[in-house]
Amino acid sequence: MKPVSELFPLLKEPKNVVITFHQKPDADAMGSALGLYHFLLQLNHTVTVVSPTNWAGFLSWMPGCKKVLDYEMQTSKATAVLDKAEWLFCLDFNTLDRTRKMADKLSSLTCTKILIDHHQQPQEETFDYGISDVNKSSTSEMVYDFIIESGYADKIDENVAECLYAGVMTDTGSFRFASTTASVHSMVADLKNHGLKHSQIHENLFDNFLESRFRFFGHVLLNRMEVFYEYNTALIAIPQSDLIKYNVKTGDTEGLVNFPLSIHGIKLACVIIDRGDERKSSFRSKGGFDVNAFARKYFNGGGHVNAAGGKNIEPLDEVVRRFKEAIKENKEQLSSYQF
Ligand code: 5GP
Ligand code: MN
Repeated sequence: MKPVSELFPLLKEPKNVVITFHQKPDADAMGSALGLYHFLLQLNHTVTVVSPTNWAGFLSWMPGCKKVLDYEMQTSKATAVLDKAEWLFCLDFNTLDRTRKMADKLSSLTCTKILIDHHQQPQEETFDYGISDVNKSSTSEMVYDFIIESGYADKIDENVAECLYAGVMTDTGSFRFASTTASVHSMVADLKNHGLKHSQIHENLFDNFLESRFRFFGHVLLNRMEVFYEYNTALIAIPQSDLIKYNVKTGDTEGLVNFPLSIHGIKLACVIIDRGDERKSSFRSKGGFDVNAFARKYFNGGGHVNAAGGKNIEPLDEVVRRFKEAIKENKEQLSSYQF
């Protein structure tokens, strides 16, 4: 993987560009992609953002979001765009299997593939150019760095600023995680100087849910949460019937895992959701417990030290059993925290 700085002189020549990210994109995936999209449009490139799957409704306010193609729903249109791509930017993921049904298509492409990502263990051989840095708060911060370092700071307009802010704000837990460096705050100051109205973005992202989402949260916190104090661990396991009953849509479960993590003493929180085709898990930790390693070892997943996810084909009961076994195996580390 060659450094992205080698691409900077080539930015002047208009190209067919596709930008993509991981399945079920969060605000960092969508925000970094649309931030880069608005930047590259100003340099006269032909740019299309292709999402591997659908996305949460709370992202639809982002400028440019209505033009994003959903690979699963618009396969032939997305395939035609991918076939014409000269540059493919891969943002906020680093192994092609994170793009679900699109993975085979992406691996068959011979165009220049460029990685910008902050997850662990990138599949480096897949990409021609790239930057992978686990110390970065968000992919949105890395796209900001890309724009600044390429010498086009003047191209940061309100559209770019809104999209990148959404990504960096959500991936830092509203600037609370340890990943929130001084550079993150400097970046936000710069975005403010380019017309960013940050309060509106918080409202767009966090104040647009339906009543049913909160009824669902109430239900699962009351009836589906188990706390294992001896392991400083809490688990919420959700059967598919709950999703149907409360009409839970893509994105409605975002943030749920933070509730058990807010219980005094809890160092590991997990939500396992039966999504029908797979059991999807989310892990969060505080302090030294490495959920990236935990998700990789037991749940076919990965992520960051304090935030990771995984997926299983086994039934929900079996995944829950596996989780309980896994915390037992890690008892020494999990129970060693002092309060
Ligand atoms: P979330 O719990 O919000 O879905 O994901 C937390 C973090 O783990 C994100 O950085 C996400 O990209 C990563 N992640 C979630 N699910 C998976 C997975 O199945 N595999 C891998 N490698 N990473 C995941
Ligand atoms: Mn991210």
